Amino acid sequence: MSVTVDLTRQPMIDGFSRPITYLRVSVTDKCNLRCVYCMPEGGLAWLHRDEILTYEEIGEIVSAAAATGVRAIRLTGGEPLLRRDLHRLVAKIAAVPGIEDVSLSTNGLLLEDQVPALAAAGLSRVNLSLDTLRPDRFEAIARRPGLDRVLRGIDAAVAAGLAPVKLNCVVMRGSNDDELADFAALTRERPIFVRFIEVMPVAENLGLQRDAYVSSDEILKRVAAIGALEPVGGPTGNGPARYFAFPGARGAVGVISPLSHDYCDRCNRVRLTADGRLRLCLFGDHDLDLRGPLRGGATTEELAGILRSSMLIKPQRHHLQLGVASSRMRAFSEIGG
Ligand code: SAM
Repeated sequence: MSVTVDLTRQPMIDGFSRPITYLRVSVTDKCNLRCVYCMPEGGLAWLHRDEILTYEEIGEIVSAAAATGVRAIRLTGGEPLLRRDLHRLVAKIAAVPGIEDVSLSTNGLLLEDQVPALAAAGLSRVNLSLDTLRPDRFEAIARRPGLDRVLRGIDAAVAAGLAPVKLNCVVMRGSNDDELADFAALTRERPIFVRFIEVMPVAENLGLQRDAYVSSDEILKRVAAIGALEPVGGPTGNGPARYFAFPGARGAVGVISPLSHDYCDRCNRVRLTADGRLRLCLFGDHDLDLRGPLRGGATTEELAGILRSSMLIKPQRHHLQLGVASSRMRAFSEIGG
């Protein structure tokens, strides 16, 4: 008896035996916030319109990625909801055979209005970035107002059944680290997963990063001071967070510790920038161009071949250090955070 195995659907394995099943797709480098740890107040030099991949082009790259074993796609940016009719892209990606999970990272400002169309198009879950629960502080950190809109976006996502809802909070000493308990308390009554993230160094934030960095060990110690925490398994997802919960809580607290406990040995992802470069590690300048071959007429199979070959240059780990830029990246928005 002969058994047919579809080898094109075997996951890509990189040079360090890690299966790569997750692609983060940046749909724009632009953002409607200017978070102090991320982007300069005046913004950055934005990409030109014709440099940015169209939805059709993103769809073709996702099809090629699915043929190499990628199963999960996260849309990010910049702020992805700035891109017109994002639900059209969600529907296109959700329809690609092999793609099982389409998720979104957003600052939530534009979420409330778009949630119904996104959910109907096949979005499964959403991660919201929120660094403070205080309106005046929101404006100081994000350099734009809008906390009320973000909170409405969170409620709309929960109501639309986009579960689990994860909140990403970048912790900064002297800025929002006195809100750890307030964020953690949200997880007691609601099925919300709050993830505290160590602020990471990029070219634009080195001074702030060095001064404001709080390690995840310190974060967990401070959260545990308000109630005993037990390690728990995480909700659905592909991420690097370690989770803990208060007894009986409906949600959990997670920490993402790229500096203090790197998780590179579990890395399962690659990134596609808004201008069509495949980025092998967020912190390292290992990338290659997919837009050129795509616009030059490459077939899905040829694109899949390029994706597979990229495994040769995926680095084993990043080399983040406090206050030091480890790549040319100026801000996460250039790559897709
Ligand atoms: N605009 C979307 C959002 O807010 O989620 C997606 C892009 S944003 C760059 C993705 C995430 O990266 C956000 O949670 C943001 O807080 C985080 N981020 C940006 N710069 C960071 C840095 N230097 N260190 C840690 N996290 C950072």
